[in-house]
Amino acid sequence: MKTLLASAIAVALFSVAGCAANSATKPAAVSDAKSAYVPKFDPKLLSAEVKTLASDEFEGRGPATPGETKTVAYVIEQMKGAGLQPGGELKDGKREWTQPVPLLRAAITGTPKLAFNIGGKAKKLTQGSEISVRAPLDGAKSVAITKAPVVFCGYGVSAPERNWDDFKGVDLKGKIAVVLINDPDFETGVGDFGGKAMTYYGRWTYKYEEAARRGAAGLLIVHETDPASYGWATVKNSNTNTMFDVVRDDPSATHPKLEGWIQRDLAVSLLKSSGLDFDKLKKLAQMREFKPVVLKHTTFSASYQVDSSVITSRNVVGRVEGAKHPDETVIYSAHWDHLGVGEPDAKGDRIYNGAVDNATGTAALIELGRAFAHGPKPERSVLFLNVTAEEKGLLGSEYYASKPLYPLATTVADINMDALDPMGPAKNWSQSGNAGSELLDEAKTLAQANGLAFTVDPHPEAGHFFRSDHFGFAKRGVPAFSWESGNDLVDGGLEAGEKARKEYVTNRYHQPADQWEPTWTFAGMSHDLGVLYQLGSKLANSRQWPNWASDSEFRATRDATAGDRK
Ligand SMILES: [Zn+2]
Repeated sequence: MKTLLASAIAVALFSVAGCAANSATKPAAVSDAKSAYVPKFDPKLLSAEVKTLASDEFEGRGPATPGETKTVAYVIEQMKGAGLQPGGELKDGKREWTQPVPLLRAAITGTPKLAFNIGGKAKKLTQGSEISVRAPLDGAKSVAITKAPVVFCGYGVSAPERNWDDFKGVDLKGKIAVVLINDPDFETGVGDFGGKAMTYYGRWTYKYEEAARRGAAGLLIVHETDPASYGWATVKNSNTNTMFDVVRDDPSATHPKLEGWIQRDLAVSLLKSSGLDFDKLKKLAQMREFKPVVLKHTTFSASYQVDSSVITSRNVVGRVEGAKHPDETVIYSAHWDHLGVGEPDAKGDRIYNGAVDNATGTAALIELGRAFAHGPKPERSVLFLNVTAEEKGLLGSEYYASKPLYPLATTVADINMDALDPMGPAKNWSQSGNAGSELLDEAKTLAQANGLAFTVDPHPEAGHFFRSDHFGFAKRGVPAFSWESGNDLVDGGLEAGEKARKEYVTNRYHQPADQWEPTWTFAGMSHDLGVLYQLGSKLANSRQWPNWASDSEFRATRDATAGDRK
């Protein structure tokens, strides 16, 4: 799950804690005959699947490794056995089990030359300590930027629906933009961007994309721990290693040539050299009237070689075809990949098994597939999408959403599962982030009827909504969310849930110790899957098209295709 390690904290708050109610909890009473069917989810099957996927034999399930070959073969075999049909790429009029996902892999070779030039004097920058520039994701074999002008652009946000524009028509072509992280109203806590909670405008991915749209040569984000929600170490670790992206038709539309972060201290001194005060400028940037500032007598230069190549990974796709509206699709998704083989831990273990993250979600997907294949035939089609390369930046899901096998306009919803709790049960559940939608409302109602209260994400400022595989769908308007197991355990309450969470974050998350345990009961998952089945079944047997909340930044995109939905 989540590419940035810091997200572990709040994410795992729900990941580890527990799931749903005990066996005494009754399924929701629903009138419709099809919706009334609630299958049993066998904890033993879930456990066996997680055990296999997380075994050393699968080598940590790294994309484009022998671990992928084993994982993909196993998931296909399980999906077949569960009664699903292949739902992947069309070949000679027939569906395959997979969708090939070409991925660009890029790494900076050697030490990059990076420098500001202020008033004729070069200030060399050290990669990793003062600045963290990532390998370019446009397939370039080298980067050479010579004395590009530098422009401070506030939060780098252009949000017409909020009447907000940090750029005010400034020409960024061939220039380096410097921006702040998070939303303009993060610090004040009140404003046009949901206060403390982060909108997509606050995410670094958005800021890079906006800079690319404006033709900037590069974008440098000023790191500050609170608004970023993680420290510099995370920025350094996530940017200075090998980078991956989906292969795009026009990468320069998404990525400026140079993408990176600078330390706050460096930004302060940089602005000072131009006679500007960082804190004052930040205050201005929190106001609608803010105008970009060109830094006087300041330029930026960069020069480095890049090792880049294209590898191919695969999404695995199973399907149950709808009896009445086969071209309308409800999607369940979960990523199969994990970190593969890497640096050894203290015990010398090098295999990152990824049992919780995300063998659990993959097992859940297989079992939901079994339930739909054996239950009453749904009116709409249901897709079981097991995506690759989540750990490399949500890439398998991004690829599917950018090249959908079934049209997004008639995709009803995406329900994502990432790092579910193998213990539980819990009395609550949550979603990552706090984006509102009618889909989420429906989920809340069904969960409540099954004894699960909804708990809002306690850290919406960390932008978890943008860090899971449902996001590629959300960004393109499809209502979507990621189910997070609850943290208020039936046995031991919040205290026990929080204790388990801390244990997971500290000792297991993204470490070789994320391994299957014989003590795992899978009681919570077994119950929660009943709720998720009911949600998908209700959508698949209705004419409902849930939409985003009226204030959502994704609603306009969804509404633009309203004509395609009957
Ligand atoms: Zn992960």
